[in-house]
Amino acid sequence: MTYDPSCLFCRIAKGEAPADVVLDRTDLLAFRDINPQAPTHALVIPRDHIPSLEALSEGHAELVSNLVQAVNEVADQEGIAGGFRMVANIGSAAGQSVDHLHLHVLGGRTMHWPPG
Ligand code: AMP
Repeated sequence: MTYDPSCLFCRIAKGEAPADVVLDRTDLLAFRDINPQAPTHALVIPRDHIPSLEALSEGHAELVSNLVQAVNEVADQEGIAGGFRMVANIGSAAGQSVDHLHLHVLGGRTMHWPPG
């Protein structure tokens, strides 16, 4: 496992920082966003420190599959399956504020397009 002690999401994944966890797996974790933008807003993260979606390579194929399956599981658990949004912000220009790969799971309200 790669761990960056200066990374908030690494500390959450290790249990060193608090989070409202909704799914706990060997290789990933999902927890509620502290500043929800929808009635359901969770983040799915790998336990490993991967800075963003752009840092993924072929060797991460199984992890990527698990992350996407976890998104679906969270949606099921939260009762938003069939109408939710998965978002990954990549880089500061796209609004990425935490440099640890995370997939937003948003639902429980009507989503608009294009996003701002
Ligand atoms: P992004 O802007 O795509 O990098 O998303 C980072 C997300 O992390 C934001 O939606 C924040 O509200 C959320 N966030 C920041 N700190 C915490 C925390 N301690 N627990 C849960 N979510 C957090």
